[in-house]
Amino acid sequence: MIRTRNRGSGPATVVARPPARAAWRGPRPATNALPSTLDYAALPAAELRRRIVRRKKQLHAVLLGHNYQRVEIQDLSDYVGDSLGLSQQAAATDADVIVFCGVHFMAETAKILAPQKTVLMPDLHAGCPMADFVTAQALRRLKADYPDAAVVAYVNSSAEVKAESDICCTSSNAVRVVESIPRERPIIFVPDKNLARYVQERTGRDNIIAWEGYCYVHDDLVLDELEKAKRAYPHAKVVIHPEARKDLLERADYVASTSQMVELTEKHDALIIGTERGLVDRLRQRFPQKTLIPLSGAAICGNMKLNTLAKLTWCLDHVEHEIVLDEDVRRRAERALRRMLELSGGWRVPTKAEEEMDLAGARPRGCGCA
Ligand code: SF4
Repeated sequence: MIRTRNRGSGPATVVARPPARAAWRGPRPATNALPSTLDYAALPAAELRRRIVRRKKQLHAVLLGHNYQRVEIQDLSDYVGDSLGLSQQAAATDADVIVFCGVHFMAETAKILAPQKTVLMPDLHAGCPMADFVTAQALRRLKADYPDAAVVAYVNSSAEVKAESDICCTSSNAVRVVESIPRERPIIFVPDKNLARYVQERTGRDNIIAWEGYCYVHDDLVLDELEKAKRAYPHAKVVIHPEARKDLLERADYVASTSQMVELTEKHDALIIGTERGLVDRLRQRFPQKTLIPLSGAAICGNMKLNTLAKLTWCLDHVEHEIVLDEDVRRRAERALRRMLELSGGWRVPTKAEEEMDLAGARPRGCGCA
């Protein structure tokens, strides 16, 4: 659950924090800050950048930027990566404040894994439409219909949904997670129907009950565009994310999570890549000598782009837009996440090569949109 503490007022009217928020004991909001994000948007980018750097120091804050964030936000981020990788950075950091530039469920995951930290978001409206397909209440109703079923929640889901689940998964470990569940046990898979269908085909199970959700960015990729790209680049291999539709996956040389896409890019000189455009652009920066074609130039997640420098400065100045989770929900969601991490070998310190890729923003570690 995310609750906004934005009261639409400037720092002069910021109300003293309630006890639940007393964990934060750092500097109070800047006294010369402007009252709204619109006022901040009128400031030159250089001034915003200067304020962000200064305020980060004052708050002892770390800035985590998702791969699909605007370039100017990524440039200021201490870490750039996918949702799970960034959440794991959040759990490992000694910063007092984490500013998560991504979408809701990602900032929530950071809070789940780092409950003692203050986690902020520049824009609380930056949600993930796929995650919003399923609510905890609706999931509880389905669980009542299938009392013997295990629930697998894609990480692209809210904390409440994770709390109702037995185990989480990413697109790179979804098959392994499902295979870890006894074959005869039915599985409720939320919220992505495309990933559920892919996992069903890969595991040969006929007892997966898929939620009717999808990622509009991947589900909007169409066969026409793929055929056009194949005609234009006949020697390029095709790699598609499993959140895409079945007809596309059938025409792909590889079905791969974003982390696997990075590995494939290292091996091939020409690739047509079916995922969010931001990843393709960053891969192009990292591998300028290769022919890397986005399957669709329009595959852009608008929700990710809601965070701006102005909103980021505002949230730092005011220490607002905090992620607050009910402790019982957080604990149960953490259990589902930790089960997945244990199955995947848990988190480890990145190697030097991986750190370099992190710096280049090109080591997504497996979450779907991530
Ligand atoms: S790319 Fe898709 S899954 Fe990722 S945040 Fe956007 S809508 Fe959600």
